[in-house]
Amino acid sequence: MTKLAFVVQKHAASRLHYDLRLELDGVLKSWAVTRGPSLVAGERRLAVPVEDHRLDYVDFEGVIPQGSYGAGAVLVWDRGSWEPDGDAAADLAAGSLRFRLHGEKLTGAWKLVRMRARPKERQASWLFIKAQDVAARPRSAPDVLIEQPLSVISQRSIQDIECQT
Ligand code: MN
Repeated sequence: MTKLAFVVQKHAASRLHYDLRLELDGVLKSWAVTRGPSLVAGERRLAVPVEDHRLDYVDFEGVIPQGSYGAGAVLVWDRGSWEPDGDAAADLAAGSLRFRLHGEKLTGAWKLVRMRARPKERQASWLFIKAQDVAARPRSAPDVLIEQPLSVISQRSIQDIECQT
């Protein structure tokens, strides 16, 4: 079986966020993680589902021009492969996905859990959560978002990308 790709793109749109994308059935299933991932086990990070992206977007780094949806700089904050623990499509439909990430910053066991939709919400939000394992960090450890802010493919910062492209 070929490996499934994953990417987390740091996206300096009108509000900075981190887009988590998991390859499944030929597309990148995508969530905007508003505060970014946490390596602290059990720390819940809001993950708003967004539209599927094409597989070739996995490598995209650059500036989305003003006037376009999501205008702002994008960098590949982490990248690698992922492995669902079970049947990914069925688990996604059921709203509870357990999986492993093999990235440079994000590794080990993770969960995506769908919350109940609030009455006026268009679609339910999810939570992106690190599961307890050796890759988890204690709450007192440095925040990975601050400790490792750069692109894993170009070592550039958001500011570098804004200036260079
Ligand atoms: Mn985004």
